[in-house]
Amino acid sequence: MSTLLENFREPAPSPLLLLGQGRDLNSERGVECPGDLPAPSDPDLVERARAARAALGQKAFVLGHHYQRDEVIDFADVTGDSFKLAREAAARPEAEYIVFCGVHFMAESADILTSDAQQVVLPDLAAGCSMADMAEIGQVEEAWAVLQDLGVAGDTIPVTYMNSSAAIKAFTGRHGGTVCTSSNAEVALRWAFDQVGGTKGVDGTGKVLFLPDQHLGRNTAVQKLGLSLDDCVVFDPRKPDGGLTAQELSDARVILWRGHCSVHGRFSEQNVTDIRAQVPGVNVLVHPECKHEVVTAADHVGSTEYIIRTLDAAEPGSSWAVGTELNLVRRVAREHPDLQVHYLDKTVCFCSTMNRIDLPHLVWAMESLAAGRMVNRIVVDADDAHWARVALDQMLALPGS
Ligand code: SF4
Repeated sequence: MSTLLENFREPAPSPLLLLGQGRDLNSERGVECPGDLPAPSDPDLVERARAARAALGQKAFVLGHHYQRDEVIDFADVTGDSFKLAREAAARPEAEYIVFCGVHFMAESADILTSDAQQVVLPDLAAGCSMADMAEIGQVEEAWAVLQDLGVAGDTIPVTYMNSSAAIKAFTGRHGGTVCTSSNAEVALRWAFDQVGGTKGVDGTGKVLFLPDQHLGRNTAVQKLGLSLDDCVVFDPRKPDGGLTAQELSDARVILWRGHCSVHGRFSEQNVTDIRAQVPGVNVLVHPECKHEVVTAADHVGSTEYIIRTLDAAEPGSSWAVGTELNLVRRVAREHPDLQVHYLDKTVCFCSTMNRIDLPHLVWAMESLAAGRMVNRIVVDADDAHWARVALDQMLALPGS
C-alpha cells in the first residue's frame, strides 16, 4: 500500500536550518543564544544531544509538540498538543527543567501550570505563533472598551483558544471567561452562553467574544451550535470599532477576533475539490482552524489528537487527505503503511515558527542546562499567571473535562 504523500513537493532545504554559526543571531527577533550555537552540519550533533540528555537525567523533562521536526521529536520524553504537554509537565514535579519544544504561548502555559520550583525553557525565543501574535493585550482591552461603551460588555463572555498569550488568557480570566482547546470549543461556547444574557443559552441573548482564531470560533458556532454565519461578526483590531457598526455589534451573538493560523489558513476549498477528483473515495480530514468553506467541504473535522485517533482507527487500505501541519501528517503516514495518506495542499505547509526549534537549539539549551547555566527561561508575571490560571481552571471545570 502506498504511503507516499503524493500531493506535496518536498521543500528545498529551509533557510531556517541556517540559523546557527555564521549567522547574525542578533538579527533574529527575540533570540538569545549567548553561547555557541552548534552548526546544523555538526556530525556530532545527535551524539551531543544524547550526552546532554543523559547528563540532565530526571532533572529535565523534554516536551515535543506534534508539529515539531522529527530530529527534535526523537529527544522528546512525551509528545502531544499544547495542553496535554503542559499538564504532563505539571505531573513531573521532580523535573526542575521543562524543555518545551513548541512555541512561546505553550511554554507560557507550562510555566503557569507547573510549580514555582520548575523552570520552563524555550530553546529558541523566536519560536512564536503567528495566530497568538494577532491578539495583543492592548488591542483586546480597546475592543472591550468598545463593547463597554456600547453597553453590551456585561452580556459578553470572553472565550480564548489555548493558542493565545498568557496576557490574553489573563484578560479572559479577569472577565469571567474560559480558555478552550480545539477539542472542547463546543462545550466552552455552550457554557459561555449559559453565563450571560437576559435569556441564557445558545438561543438566548448573550454574546461571546472569541479570541484569537476566527475560524475555530466560526466553525464551532455554526457547525456545532447551529448558529448562522450572520450571527458571527469579525472584529478587526486595526479598524476603528473593529470595522463594525454599533448595530452589527449589538446584533452579533459571536464576536470573532480577526486572527488565524498561517498554516491551517492555507488550505482551500479547491484543495478539497482537487483531491476528490484525483483520489476517488478519499476521506478528507481537517483541523477546525481551517477556513469555514474547507471544514464544510471535508468529511471529518477535529483536533490534532482527533486526527491521530481517526487515522489509528482507519480501515486498512482506505485513502485519506489530511489538512494539518506537515510534520505531523508525514509522521502519522509513516506509522500507517497500510493507509494511503495524502497531504491536502499541493505546497508544503510546515509551521515555520515551530520549526525554529531545531536540533542545534535543543542541543544548545540542554548543554547549557547541564553546565548549570539557565537559558531562555519563560516566566509569566505573577498577576497574569494568577488570572490565566483562573481561565484555565474554568476550562478544566467545563462539563466532560
Ligand atoms: S500551527 Fe498555527 S496555531 Fe499552531 S503554532 Fe503554528 S502558527 Fe500557531
